Amino acid sequence: MSENHLFAAIRAAVPSPDKPLALLADGSVVTYGEMLALSGQIAGLLVARGVKPGDRVAVQAEKSWPCLALYLATLRAGAVYLPLNTGYTLNEVRYFLGDAEPTLFVCRPEVAVEARALANELGVPRLETLGADGTGSLTDAAATFAPDFDDVARGPDDLAAILYTSGTTGRAKGAMLSHGNLLSNARALRECWRFTADDVLIHALPLFHTHGLFVAVNIVLLSGASMFFRAKFDPRETIELMDRATCLMGVPTFYTRLLDQPELTRAATAHMRLFISGSAPLLAETHRAFRERTGHAILERYGMTETCMNTSNPYEGERIAGTVGFPLPGVSIRITDPASGAELSMGEIGMVEVKGPNVTKGYWRMPEKTASEFHDGYFITGDLGRIDERGYLSIVGRGKDLVITGGFNVYPKEVEGEIDAIDGVLESAVIGVPHPDFGEGVTAVVVPAKGANLTEQSVLHALEGRLAKFKQPKRVFFVGELPRNTMGKVQKNVLRDSYKDIYRRSA
Ligand code: AMP
Repeated sequence: MSENHLFAAIRAAVPSPDKPLALLADGSVVTYGEMLALSGQIAGLLVARGVKPGDRVAVQAEKSWPCLALYLATLRAGAVYLPLNTGYTLNEVRYFLGDAEPTLFVCRPEVAVEARALANELGVPRLETLGADGTGSLTDAAATFAPDFDDVARGPDDLAAILYTSGTTGRAKGAMLSHGNLLSNARALRECWRFTADDVLIHALPLFHTHGLFVAVNIVLLSGASMFFRAKFDPRETIELMDRATCLMGVPTFYTRLLDQPELTRAATAHMRLFISGSAPLLAETHRAFRERTGHAILERYGMTETCMNTSNPYEGERIAGTVGFPLPGVSIRITDPASGAELSMGEIGMVEVKGPNVTKGYWRMPEKTASEFHDGYFITGDLGRIDERGYLSIVGRGKDLVITGGFNVYPKEVEGEIDAIDGVLESAVIGVPHPDFGEGVTAVVVPAKGANLTEQSVLHALEGRLAKFKQPKRVFFVGELPRNTMGKVQKNVLRDSYKDIYRRSA
């Protein structure tokens, strides 16, 4: 092993030092050469601060191009990048620092004083700051280091990153991702989605999640492509950028918000070659509406923090709404019976299990948890799905969201599909909450469309005859919007908590 597995591939893909890599909101351009130079300087600083190969570098910083350089610098120094959601409070950050024991914590300048106290308390030796504008003690100190850095050798099995799962219940788990996991996955996606140096991606996703960091950034780098690099997603601006861009990677809410803009038209999207969606289910309705309006079929893919990407709808060939396509090259998917573990046949709903070079080595310092998440070499995703006769995978929901009512299994997605089809319904979430007779009661939380005149009775009435009695909601509630996390996922645990007492027998 003489080279840095992931970074050597990134370096080899640099088309030329003056090629634009990141096109920033203020109109300035960061070239590949500038990114290499800053990442080299920061890598020099990391080593000087005592960061050794395998050490963790925890980062809670706003999206900026120096933050991207910090990710690359960490790889180059042979250390492990640990990005944290910028929404976490320092109280939440305490857990991650305590669990991961980083050598360096890079925080936002606004919280430097409290962060330093926390770092001292937890024995984190070094702290630097990095602000939204890319300034801070990190970049100040890095400026005194040489841009040339001798990349630390790392093999495919060495850790490149730890990402704590956005798991909404229980203790957050740090998924350990190796150089081999990240490189193999980015290469597979680059081929599947036909990325080349001519591509210009609209990058408006956060940098602390697998989607924005690994799917988006690694593919751009490995293709020698460019990206419009934006701190936040703004649907209007995104549409304006489309005549100079070729691809958008987004979560489903990007697409629903784009559809709200009358400026989203066939003409406005004519220069784009690809719209990709993932991280949460894209409603079939959104897929259809987007196609009608723009002529583009959104390409939906499926993955998770622990496995990087698993499946994708085809680039050429039919992109089927409501499905997440086929396994990526080198990835195997199977569906098993959640109770017995036996493999199920085509068309049957069960646990999605995945195996391949993309799959995590396990959870940081949780060997038992890791062992219990693997089944004969396959990773148990926790998602329920089915594979149809053409080989397309559909995700039916999270295993833990399955509702068991009176001993019957109810898949929320099936009920949500029927509710969403009712006139006047914008979207819905179906949950199971404790019920004295049935164990769990199927419960619907509905967002009505503007001006719709829906009542609990009208929704229940519309479902009669469309769903078996046991699948029909016992109660229907209306809300202005569903609770979502930063990646656009509906937080069903929040809903379950809000409605947990509704069937309780009055004493
Ligand atoms: P995360 O680890 O935050 O990326 O979340 C991964 C989870 O998001 C998966 O296990 C799925 O439950 C969900 N997910 C990701 N992509 C899709 C998709 N295209 N359709 C449905 N669910 C998805």
